[in-house]
Amino acid sequence: MATVHVIGAGISGLACATRLARSGANVVVYEAVGHAGGRARSFHDDILDCVIDNGNHLLLGANDSTRAYLSDLDASEMIQEIKPATFPFMDLSSGERWQVRPNGGLLPTWIFSRDRRIPGTRAGEYLKQAYRLHRARNSDTVLGALGKDSALYETLWQPLCRAALNTDASEASAKLLWTVVRETFLRGEEACRPWFFHKGLSVALIYPAIKFLEANNAEVRFNARLRGLRWDDHKITSMHFSEEMRRVGVEDAIVLAVPPNSCNAIWPNAKAPTVARTIVNAHYKMDKTASLPWNAPFIGLINSETHWIFVRDNILSLTISAGDLLAEKPNREIANLLWPEVAKVVGSSADRMPAWRIIKERRATFAQTPEQVKARATTDTVIKNLFLAGDWTDTGLPATIEGSVRSGFKAASQALKAIRNSGANVAD
Ligand SMILES: Cc1cc2nc3c(=O)[nH]c(=O)nc-3n(C[C@H](O)[C@H](O)[C@H](O)COP(=O)(O)OP(=O)(O)OC[C@H]3O[C@@H](n4cnc5c(N)ncnc54)[C@H](O)[C@@H]3O)c2cc1C
Repeated sequence: MATVHVIGAGISGLACATRLARSGANVVVYEAVGHAGGRARSFHDDILDCVIDNGNHLLLGANDSTRAYLSDLDASEMIQEIKPATFPFMDLSSGERWQVRPNGGLLPTWIFSRDRRIPGTRAGEYLKQAYRLHRARNSDTVLGALGKDSALYETLWQPLCRAALNTDASEASAKLLWTVVRETFLRGEEACRPWFFHKGLSVALIYPAIKFLEANNAEVRFNARLRGLRWDDHKITSMHFSEEMRRVGVEDAIVLAVPPNSCNAIWPNAKAPTVARTIVNAHYKMDKTASLPWNAPFIGLINSETHWIFVRDNILSLTISAGDLLAEKPNREIANLLWPEVAKVVGSSADRMPAWRIIKERRATFAQTPEQVKARATTDTVIKNLFLAGDWTDTGLPATIEGSVRSGFKAASQALKAIRNSGANVAD
């Protein structure tokens, strides 16, 4: 029976493998390290003595494919919806707080309501700037398309760029940001609802997928790093791992679901972004359950080093996106720098810093600039039985969980088509 070999057990690889297993295909997953999840995983931290996520992750109501993935795995209960959609913010220099609250229905009437929009902004600005973003060219950055004059630059576009594109607005692709606006704000309140992982990333996205694969006779091999591929007559013929060489059957297909730098090492012919951006996460363990203003599960900060604070029980977790400069500092210096900010928000003493943990994800996503977006690869390749998946492939979406899941689903359907075309017998 034909086999699809999926390389990489991050979200893209798991979405691909579970879709294939559901279709009755024979699947083997190969993962370089000893655990699955890649850039979205939970682990037990010895310093804080509890399970934490490598970084705060948020989904939005518009992320239909991710919700389909969770539903397929019976894991929909593992994410929590904030209903109605509300985005709390605080300006750390003035102390002013507000909530952005999109309305139901397709017409964004929230921009006409002072209680729902950002203080100090006018409805006309939203309309004018959204129109400019819509008209942006592929080569435009957000700063280039919108300028910095409007208050919306620092209070709306910059936080959105950092959160969705992990790229500063001064260099982020305006076209890609427009996709985010179109898929969320222009689809109404439900599409904007934040969904968060109240029990952690792995219990929602990773463990159920591994369980599903095992239950469907798919094999997952850990500590199996692919080093290279051999091909002949436009077909991959063998895969070379650190420990062994495996022949690829004539009817088999391969999906490379690895980050762009790994893909480049394995398959140098692939087009791939070459520049990455860092996300820094700081976790602080409080003595007792912590709470944020409005008892919200997260809050965005303006005029601060910290971009977002999330709370889960007694752990406060801070996110700093596009944090390459910050990541150059030693961990203790980062913890000391950020603690007074979070202390101000939760009303704690700035002098008494609790136990902390800093995690620097150096290659959190590719830099989503106009130039790097152009370097995204398509799912199919010049090799008939080789397909690519990953948040960096050309999904039309930012490098996110939703982009990863969509890329995995697409690679699964193309790999299935390829093995069926080569005469293999696969149930529908
Ligand atoms: C701190 C942080 C915060 C984020 N926040 C959000 C958020 O709020 N919302 C959101 O939607 N997204 C967020 N993201 C992005 C999201 O995590 C990624 O888009 C997604 O996890 C990428 O999944 P992937 O499967 O494409 O790649 P990866 O997770 O990188 O998976 C690739 C896998 O391939 C394996 N591998 C690599 N090379 C080889 C090889 N040669 N052989 C075998 N295996 C190999 C790796 O070990 C890894 O397990 C965030 C990312 C980070 C790091």
